[in-house]
Amino acid sequence: MAGEPQADCLFCKIVAGEVPATLVRETETTVAFRDINPQAPTHVLVIPRVHHRDAATLAAAEPQIAADMLRETAEVAAGEKLDSYRVVFNTGSGAGQTVFHAHAHVLGGRGLQWPPG
Ligand code: C5P
Repeated sequence: MAGEPQADCLFCKIVAGEVPATLVRETETTVAFRDINPQAPTHVLVIPRVHHRDAATLAAAEPQIAADMLRETAEVAAGEKLDSYRVVFNTGSGAGQTVFHAHAHVLGGRGLQWPPG
């Protein structure tokens, strides 16, 4: 069921503490942790505790939690003392999504090119 933990979901396992992650921040509704394969000096993922396959699905089903996730990206950036940073929601495999549990990438600490690849 939408929102329920999924047994085969890596990020649900991180939320449950069953897979280790380097935590940065936690709230009642979100968890932020360092990406295991960082693409910038700061590369933090912010995920909702509830399971939805992507950010769009989360926003449609539980908009308050989507807002919590977005607010947490700003809290992470502030905590990392980033003046400039990028928030990315890869949505769908064609856009590079590999983990199908909603997440925001917070990237910063180096110059970022536009357009992205
Ligand atoms: O947007 P995408 O689905 O590709 O992002 C998933 C991210 O999860 C990747 O950047 C990957 O490095 C990260 N990851 C992680 N810890 C894991 C598995 C994947 O930080 N154990």
